[in-house]
Amino acid sequence: MRGLQCPKSLYLYKYHIQLRDKQSAEQTAIFNRGNKVGILAQRLFADGVDATPAKRSNNLAAVEKTQQLISEGVEVIYEAAFQHEQVLAILDVLVKRDNHWYAYEVKSSTKISNTYIIDAALQYWVITHSGLPLADISLITINNQYLRKGELDLNQLFAIKSVKTEVLKHQPMVEEKIFQSKLVVANAEQPKVAIGEHCFSPYTCDFMGTCWKGVPKNSVFEISGISKTELFALYNEGYKTINDIPANNSLSANANKHIQSVKNDKERIDTEAIKKFLDKVSYPLFFMDFETFMPAVPLFEATKPYQHIPFQYSLHYKQSKEAPLEHFSFLAEQGFNPRKVFLENLMKDTEGEGSILVYDTLMEKNVLNSLKNDFPEYASKIENRLARIIDLMVPFQEKTYYHPAMKNSFSIKNLLHALVPDLSYTSLSISSGSIAMTAFEQLQTETDLFRIIEIRDQLHEYCKLDTLSMVKIFEKLEEVVMR
Ligand code: SF4
Repeated sequence: MRGLQCPKSLYLYKYHIQLRDKQSAEQTAIFNRGNKVGILAQRLFADGVDATPAKRSNNLAAVEKTQQLISEGVEVIYEAAFQHEQVLAILDVLVKRDNHWYAYEVKSSTKISNTYIIDAALQYWVITHSGLPLADISLITINNQYLRKGELDLNQLFAIKSVKTEVLKHQPMVEEKIFQSKLVVANAEQPKVAIGEHCFSPYTCDFMGTCWKGVPKNSVFEISGISKTELFALYNEGYKTINDIPANNSLSANANKHIQSVKNDKERIDTEAIKKFLDKVSYPLFFMDFETFMPAVPLFEATKPYQHIPFQYSLHYKQSKEAPLEHFSFLAEQGFNPRKVFLENLMKDTEGEGSILVYDTLMEKNVLNSLKNDFPEYASKIENRLARIIDLMVPFQEKTYYHPAMKNSFSIKNLLHALVPDLSYTSLSISSGSIAMTAFEQLQTETDLFRIIEIRDQLHEYCKLDTLSMVKIFEKLEEVVMR
């Protein structure tokens, strides 16, 4: 699969694995989630035997153990390993029914992608060529329509779909690619592959730290909001940095605002437009941010897979422009559904009047609307909060305030880096929403009291910084209209 994405990546993985980029916390969380879902899906096929050898990396032992289990008449094998012509495939579940073998591969996703089909096609090729005919091969994915009621119903949670027809169509391609990949690995020389869109598709390559070393600072890739195709077209035409891009380019007006701003190395401020935005905001001010987590397997009653479950909020509050800054927060206890207690606390802390500033309102509004659906007794209060929400991102999104360090992106981190550089997330253990999500999910099963306290402190620190950043960004807007 790696060789399909890029032969150089396959070669580096085989011979220079030490060059691999460090796995991010987000990637680790995705892998861990995949493993957990895989283990849970095994329960769809009871009483299986695991073919994983004592030493996990001993692939040959896994293949031998699988063969031994098959010859002993075992009918459900987890992590069944097969090898053919030096290609190894480890299948999640192998099942024998009515004297026929069925292969199942588990994905923690809700959709079947082409990459999954090709992955299954490779497994089918290895398993059948190693001498085991398969009556069928299926992918098991998560059914995001499943609503948990009582105990987990695995037959509802998982969706099983045969992909044999597609897999058979891909067999000639798989055979050809295996042949090509073997040539890559057998070659003494590293393949010469330039950086390109393939570095991101289907996965972000983990050798970017090596291949992208030569990309200069302020490169064209720092312009966000433009398609990768356009960026690579520029780069390959020789426009390596933003300063190299000619004035008569065909990029969007937004991208050109960024390019001009970098070239002039100065901010663009439309004071009138910012004034108009500030006129809509009325004190007392609430700066609000939610954290949610999205368990693949619904943990609580009446929730669905990957549903956003709010578990934390931070609120900074200013009675008036001159008043001191106050802070309120909520972080749910782990182990039970936090939605109702989250809502009750939030309604209490945002009572009264005044604007509620949120940076990018989409998630907060979705969470509030979903809570309104499920707790209709709070509908009018939630409506009140929704009506008071103002999106602090708007002046930046509309580029009425633009700084070159924002790199054509209006993420709060880029904004903070540009406008309030002394405030930063870099020293925090939890430094992004997705890490916070993983941390809270980890809390659900954590038993070490010290670790629980540590994670909860880190979550508090992170969410508080989110709203403090909003306060500082808002003050910056107030300051520019006063200049
Ligand atoms: S970073 Fe790009 S060019 Fe380098 S190995 Fe990965 S996919 Fe290939």
